[in-house]
Amino acid sequence: MFSNRRNKYFVTLLFCGAAELFGAFCFLFCKQEKVLLNAYNKDTVFKSDSISEKKDTIKKNSVQMDLHEVIKLHYESTVIDSHNDYLYQVFKRGAEFGTRDKFTQSGLQRFTEGGVDVQVFAIWIPSSEEKRANAFAKEQISRLKRIEAKYSGEFEIAYNSADIDRIIKSGKFCGMMGIEDGAAVGNDADNVNEFFKLGIRYIGLTWNRSNLLGTSAKDEPAHGKTAEPAGGLTKFGFEVVKRMDEIGMLIDVSHIGEGAFWDVVKTTKNPIIASHRCDNGEFPRRFYKRKRKVNAYAGN
Ligand SMILES: [Zn+2]
Repeated sequence: MFSNRRNKYFVTLLFCGAAELFGAFCFLFCKQEKVLLNAYNKDTVFKSDSISEKKDTIKKNSVQMDLHEVIKLHYESTVIDSHNDYLYQVFKRGAEFGTRDKFTQSGLQRFTEGGVDVQVFAIWIPSSEEKRANAFAKEQISRLKRIEAKYSGEFEIAYNSADIDRIIKSGKFCGMMGIEDGAAVGNDADNVNEFFKLGIRYIGLTWNRSNLLGTSAKDEPAHGKTAEPAGGLTKFGFEVVKRMDEIGMLIDVSHIGEGAFWDVVKTTKNPIIASHRCDNGEFPRRFYKRKRKVNAYAGN
């Protein structure tokens, strides 16, 4: 789905607020002449079980770059932030896309000044809207489309990789949409198709609450207490995963429990994504540390 446009470098930031992170990065290193960048290589790093060996490998593969080179690399790359909760702030606090609101760290100016080319806007379902998750998700989609209409000269939503290339080339800021919490699917897998038609390109199966699709990392039964934790996808969850596979909707494993993760890996025939790290600090952070799972993830 994502493709490089400008040069050989391609940067995908898997954290919320790429622009802010980059700003913080520059702030932290602004007084240093050289910056260490990790030349991350999963084949060499994960070959070893020893953490110190892993660290040595990362150190060995690191390169020193002048801060100016780092900034140049950032701005010359196509930067895609795969998850940002900005849209919730539009709903909750009336954030205005063209304004530097004090209560958000995002907005059109910050995105573009921060060197973000593509922002995937997360359609997250707050607890207050859980009972009407499907309707709320559609309202959030409409909200982003209204922003697109209002800022049509500067912002456009992409639905495929050709759109991304075209929109960036035109000089506009590019948006995409993903759902965070499969509760939005309700109890009907046909809603996956409907969301795809509306422009959603990934669905995170759960947020911090287990739902009709499966268990979340936060509340998965026996999480962390047994070698093979209980929980996983429900029968409906399996149906949804298969439907997502059929139509090309990306499966986002952020926030899902360990049992659910393995059910997804065993079921899907397509690559999976983790659009951002788990907010509760458990899975998948824990899973990143386990070679067996990292390999399963890479193999998928
Ligand atoms: Zn999250």
